[in-house]
Amino acid sequence: MTFPGPSRREFLQLMAAVPLSVQGHRESTPSQTSLQEQVLPGLRVVRGSVNTVVFERNGKTLLVDSGELSAAPGGAVPEWVLFTHHHRDQASAAHQLAAKGTKIAVPAEEKRLFAEAEQFWNSADNIIDHRYDFRPHLFTLTHSVPVSRTVTGGETFTWQDLRFEIISTPAHTDGSVSYLVEIGGKRVALTGDLIHSPGKIWEFYSLQKRFPGMRGDYWGFGGAVADLQASLAKILAKKPDLLIPSHGEIMSEPAHAISLLTENLDRLMANYLSTAAWRIYFKGIFPDAQYPMLPPLPAVFYPTWIRDIASTTKAISPRCRASPAATAFWIASRVDCGKQRADLSGLIHTCLKKRARSITSSPTIHRRRSRRPRR
Ligand SMILES: [Zn+2]
Repeated sequence: MTFPGPSRREFLQLMAAVPLSVQGHRESTPSQTSLQEQVLPGLRVVRGSVNTVVFERNGKTLLVDSGELSAAPGGAVPEWVLFTHHHRDQASAAHQLAAKGTKIAVPAEEKRLFAEAEQFWNSADNIIDHRYDFRPHLFTLTHSVPVSRTVTGGETFTWQDLRFEIISTPAHTDGSVSYLVEIGGKRVALTGDLIHSPGKIWEFYSLQKRFPGMRGDYWGFGGAVADLQASLAKILAKKPDLLIPSHGEIMSEPAHAISLLTENLDRLMANYLSTAAWRIYFKGIFPDAQYPMLPPLPAVFYPTWIRDIASTTKAISPRCRASPAATAFWIASRVDCGKQRADLSGLIHTCLKKRARSITSSPTIHRRRSRRPRR
């Protein structure tokens, strides 16, 4: 038996339509956004879906992470946009800028996620198992963007009298880069979503990634934290005076901001690893001597009326076959596992056919019962 519900393709189309209403369907200029801040002469930040950094020289404009903007401040067409990574909040209107003639530079490792976004989504339903097993994730662009140039760590990008040093800073995405530029006597690092503010990051979800030696991203809570700390160290080594993140505060004390974040990440991961059950299955990734775990609880043995469906899925079915007053519970954390679901649904269905009263921990069972089965 299978349950009806949105197919993967339908789910993806739904998700792609939701999060950013500006997703390329209306014009958005800086006058429509709330805040602009002149940070240094020739450098300002426009706060929209992301912090867009605007450089102005000789009547020309270069943006970093244009976000929802489909024009430069004042309405002009920017000459270039440089992107730190491919996420939709960074680049939702990039295809509109490109159509007007703006040249687009993207991290080489993420070129496909700009230039072939539609193809990526068309094939995505073949690669998604669990959402947390899906990297890159649902914030990938929905519109392809023509790419004029790719950038790689170690290269420089020169525009007018400005020289942007490209630093490979993976973590938030595997191909993220940061840009370091000297302007107005300050060394300014544009760090994308590497850091949000002193001690903080924009979101943790993007750091879900398999640890080395592990299969699948499912277990990888914080699997990209080590990448993040290494990338932060690279930024720090460049001795910037200012950090400008895609989301968050402009930081004038980078060493302090990064050191706080590094400490917080260390504490968070030590706490998590002290109880992470996967360490029992994947021995050696984090040796016990170096990363001690809390002692295990005593083993629990189930009573006979609990049916073991699969690793985390159990059914409680007292007198199911014998009594019309039987009760069935569904306890499952991996509701997406077809075999488990089908197996348990068969059990519940048998109970229902015997006119048993069904009580379930998941209201979706009631809803699903009333729909036609999915093909
Ligand atoms: Zn992002």
